[in-house]
Amino acid sequence: MYNAKAYSATSATARLASAIIVRRDPTETDVQIEVLFCGVCHSDLHQTRNEWSGIMPTVYPCVPGHEIVGRVTKVGSAVAKYKLGDLVGVGCLVDSDGTCPACKRDLEQFCPNSTLTYNFPDKHLGGVTYGGYSDSIVVDQRFVLRIPTNLNLAGAAPLLCAGITTYSPLRHWDVTKGKKVGVVGLGGLGHMGVKFAHALGAHTVVFTTSPSKIEDALRLGADEVVLSSDANQMRQHAASFDFILDAVAADHDINAYINLLTIDGNITLVGAPEKPLPVPAFSLIMGRRSLSGSPIGGIAETQEMLDFCGQHNITADVEIIPIQKINEAYERMVKSDVKYRFSIDMTSLKSE
Ligand code: NAP
Ligand code: ZN
Repeated sequence: MYNAKAYSATSATARLASAIIVRRDPTETDVQIEVLFCGVCHSDLHQTRNEWSGIMPTVYPCVPGHEIVGRVTKVGSAVAKYKLGDLVGVGCLVDSDGTCPACKRDLEQFCPNSTLTYNFPDKHLGGVTYGGYSDSIVVDQRFVLRIPTNLNLAGAAPLLCAGITTYSPLRHWDVTKGKKVGVVGLGGLGHMGVKFAHALGAHTVVFTTSPSKIEDALRLGADEVVLSSDANQMRQHAASFDFILDAVAADHDINAYINLLTIDGNITLVGAPEKPLPVPAFSLIMGRRSLSGSPIGGIAETQEMLDFCGQHNITADVEIIPIQKINEAYERMVKSDVKYRFSIDMTSLKSE
């Protein structure tokens, strides 16, 4: 075991602050990584503030962070896939059983015995897992991803969660050229959804509550932008979408979007608001529309997404911050004031 520097929250109302945590020494199949950048996901905020207490209660101290890129500093004797100095990534998953039907289909995100990167029982050290707001992390090689070397590292970090969480449902629902696709909420996830839908050739429409984001949405690849508060603009798109990706982090009227789906259209929730969203049965019945959810993606698909980003030169639009600005960043995220992902420069932890 060794000590690592980190930022943690000690309660749902505490500010994140500097802390020392214990990491395991790499086992023979482990990779030790120096964390260079860690993206700031809205899930980090939900979790540190215990906003998902019903389904995933937070254990304190909580070290969030599951959009990790870094450099390999040590490998176990059985690690063949990575060597010292390689640029690698770690997302939301750090373990799964490898034998269940989900794992056999490369869908580790549905494995009943998977381990999330933070706030999950740590089978090596006891207690819970600690995430990427840290100077180093140790992860089994199966859950380590390769980062294409042409990508900007600060912008690549958010691909590990925001990237795969939007790429996976767009692929699953067969978003291609000729399809009309909506993306609701231009935050960290939403802006990646726009980049991917555009790169996949779909006619892409962004729904935002923020007039200040309209120009950016077009620059990011949207063909049209709708201010969701404008009932007239919303009506013009009635019953016309093949697919809508809902990436909103807070309470909102999902029925307004269900009504924009065409026959057999699907709306997939990736946003995970604290409270349940009411869904009128008739909106789904009329038009045989469907409502789904989707969590992150499997490891193979995450690598596929990273390689796709390498080929198309896609990264997140980031605002780089030192870890000391993390509490301010959370406050801005609550106000939807993020363009479009914070990425923490982990060298800032050295001064703690
Ligand atoms: P984010 O960067 O804070 O973006 C959320 C966006 O939602 C905001 O930028 C805003 O976009 C919109 N929004 C916020 N409040 C709203 C409101 N009251 N009404 C309507 N729109 C509102 O968050 P994120 O990191 O992208 O995460 C989004 C959600 O996905 C979170 O709940 C997060 O926990 C969840 N998530 C799920 C998964 C998964 O596996 N399914 C993975 C990661 C994250 P506009 O300004 O454009 O309106
Ligand atoms: Zn996330």
